Amino acid sequence: VLETVQDYIDAKLCHSIHTSGSKSFRGCRRRWNWLYNEFWYPKTTAKPLEFGVAYHVGMETLYDPKLWDKPESVALALAQKAFYDTCQTQYKNYLESFGEDEEVRKDYLERVELGQAMLKYHTVNVRRQDIVGGYKPLYVEVNFEVPLGVDGEQLWCKCKTCWTRYANYAEANGGWTGMMGFVAWRGLPVTYGGRIDVVMEGPDGRVWVLDWKTAARLSEDTATFLLVDDQITRYLAALRACGYRVAGFIYHEQKKAIPVEPEPMTRRYKGMLFSTNKQNDVELESFMRTVMENDPEAYAAGLYNTYLDYLRDNPVRFYGRHVIPRNDEELSQAWQNVLLEAQDMIDPGLRIYPNAGRFNCQTCAFLQPCLGKNNGEDYEYTLKTLFDKRKYHYWEDTKASTDGKGGQ
Ligand code: SF4
Ligand SMILES: [Zn+2]
Repeated sequence: VLETVQDYIDAKLCHSIHTSGSKSFRGCRRRWNWLYNEFWYPKTTAKPLEFGVAYHVGMETLYDPKLWDKPESVALALAQKAFYDTCQTQYKNYLESFGEDEEVRKDYLERVELGQAMLKYHTVNVRRQDIVGGYKPLYVEVNFEVPLGVDGEQLWCKCKTCWTRYANYAEANGGWTGMMGFVAWRGLPVTYGGRIDVVMEGPDGRVWVLDWKTAARLSEDTATFLLVDDQITRYLAALRACGYRVAGFIYHEQKKAIPVEPEPMTRRYKGMLFSTNKQNDVELESFMRTVMENDPEAYAAGLYNTYLDYLRDNPVRFYGRHVIPRNDEELSQAWQNVLLEAQDMIDPGLRIYPNAGRFNCQTCAFLQPCLGKNNGEDYEYTLKTLFDKRKYHYWEDTKASTDGKGGQ
């Protein structure tokens, strides 16, 4: 029986406003409507390796609360195994569709090795500091669904999707369906849902949300987008709504690279045996050690001095940690904005129109049907052939990733 809002949530009967939907809604309502209201998903094909997804599984293991007080080597080995197993499964699926290819296999193996090395780097350089700093993970990879209400009154939605879901449920459970059922029905509760990478308790007992990303390049130190971020801030507001004392969030970026040992060049360049390219992922200490041992004359003659100074002043960063505290006022406002936006999204009178723009459309997965709609073609045919019509949203049935999602 559906009595409390929690009963509805447990039965997966709610209109969940998902964190990723906000960005889409603000970006372009046409795209948002196709994806979030009509459930059109671009058809995807198996890839040899979804690095972000596999890496996420590794990190999830590394921050598993049950492994926090276990020996570091055990946690790392399990994390590397979890990452490796996920890679293997992905690769097997790919092979089933596309068969063997030497190039693909080489690239796959390289990235599997890189991922395992990155996990090791992170264990030694970051996880260890988290432990020493008195942080401890409470939950990892946690889904939440928080009821949305205005002035203590729960919001209900009677949109098409909500009705379909409810009618299916009613049919199976002997409830009212048909027109009569619809009129008497109050709708499904509107909730705010998302998935948090890690909830960590800090040394003072307040909680932090940790968000992981992997990227080819790291963000600037004072990343404005984080100062004004409202996505992770909304996670925090949701946690506060559940009774937690909330401190802020930690945005953790990991470069898709690890420090490499300098390798000698095939022949000397300007008297030096080792490359002094500024793009190399080398660290001062290991570079200095290497040239002292393997190219002592050039080192003694000072040929490497400029490069050594450069490495000292511009150490290569392999991760970036942005700690963003949030106060009560910020959380209250963020929650207020969730409510306002949710009410717009479920408004039956909401107007849907495209928001074309250079950056918006460049990565948009809906470009084809959008052009078709603009010029009067049968865009629905395009949707039917190039997209899958789903019953559930991706967060209801797929894995999280550390890679950013573009175009949706
Ligand atoms: S192509 Fe541009 S205008 Fe069209 S749906 Fe995508 S983002 Fe919107
Ligand atoms: Zn709805």
